Amino acid sequence: MSVLERIRPDLAGFVPYASARRAGHRAGIRLDANEAPWLQAGDGSGLNRYPSPQPADLLAVLAGLYDVRAGQVYAGRGSDEAIDLLVRLFCRAGRDNVVTLAPTFGMYQVAASLQDVALRRVALDPEQDFALDPQRLLDLVDDDTRLVFLCSPNNPTGTDFHAEVEPLARALAGRALLVVDEAYVEFAGHAGAAGLLDRHENLAILRTLSKLHALAGARVGALLAAEPLVARIAGIAAPYPLPAPSVAAALAALAPPALARTLALRDGLLAERERVRAALAALPGIDRVWPSAGNFLLLRCHDAAATFARALAGDVLLRDVSGQPGLAGCLRASIGTRADSDALLAALAVGGAA
Ligand SMILES: *Cc1c(COP(=O)(O)O)cnc(C)c1O
Repeated sequence: MSVLERIRPDLAGFVPYASARRAGHRAGIRLDANEAPWLQAGDGSGLNRYPSPQPADLLAVLAGLYDVRAGQVYAGRGSDEAIDLLVRLFCRAGRDNVVTLAPTFGMYQVAASLQDVALRRVALDPEQDFALDPQRLLDLVDDDTRLVFLCSPNNPTGTDFHAEVEPLARALAGRALLVVDEAYVEFAGHAGAAGLLDRHENLAILRTLSKLHALAGARVGALLAAEPLVARIAGIAAPYPLPAPSVAAALAALAPPALARTLALRDGLLAERERVRAALAALPGIDRVWPSAGNFLLLRCHDAAATFARALAGDVLLRDVSGQPGLAGCLRASIGTRADSDALLAALAVGGAA
């Protein structure tokens, strides 16, 4: 059975909004979309016109970047939009469920709650370095499970589950879509799971320009999946998901010179991650800093609130994740510039960390 048969049956005859640009006609004089015929003051790029729903040049560049075909790419407003669209496309409200990890990224819960869908979670054990036993995840899957979200590297633990992707995709074939959220995969030292797409039609991968590519403010992300699934997602998305300035920013960021610079910056950040990890682990108030495949570190403190406050007193904001399952005492720190890290380390060293 194809995973497409797990899409909500009531959407079988769904008719996408027929936006003016979706029709794809070309003409010099465009009177089809009720746009203003003049440019806004200071506008040099034609923002009076609606953008292409899925710009061919951006799809081609993303396909090249992720080593897939352009038809396997849906480009949208960050991965957050794709998570929401997947839940809405697959899950019957009040009936279906999705399966994920705990702790993990909070948006799976938000999207599931919005659609009135239950979220089932496999608890990861901090004492086992958050390792995943795929069978425990599969044990939560039943006839009403439509999606399995696997965040790899996992936010906020930094754990890389790449080795689990293919066995899970195989075990879930015909039952559920495995959605691998690879927001941080560029920091993990491997190419991610995109190469598995042609072998597993029930696999979808989320990528984003928000992290490594330094475009969180532009809101551009990609869903990579088999062509028919990409078409279904594009069909339920907003008519114009991508603002033209964001598309321009994405194309500029992915042009070869910018990309080469980004990759060099990444190498520096990876070295910085290991320097900060060792330095944090040596502080008296911190009893654990887990290895991370992302651009952040998870640390466990004797007193998370006190450590958070001490960092803040040094003008450094950390993320308090101590309320998440298994993360009592834990904070998450992004890897910033060397000066940022030095400010953090200095703030936590004051009088000995709490
Ligand atoms: C930051 C992050 C994203 C990125 O979301 P965007 O909407 O693309 O900015 C996706 N998944 C995880 C796990 C993240 O931490």
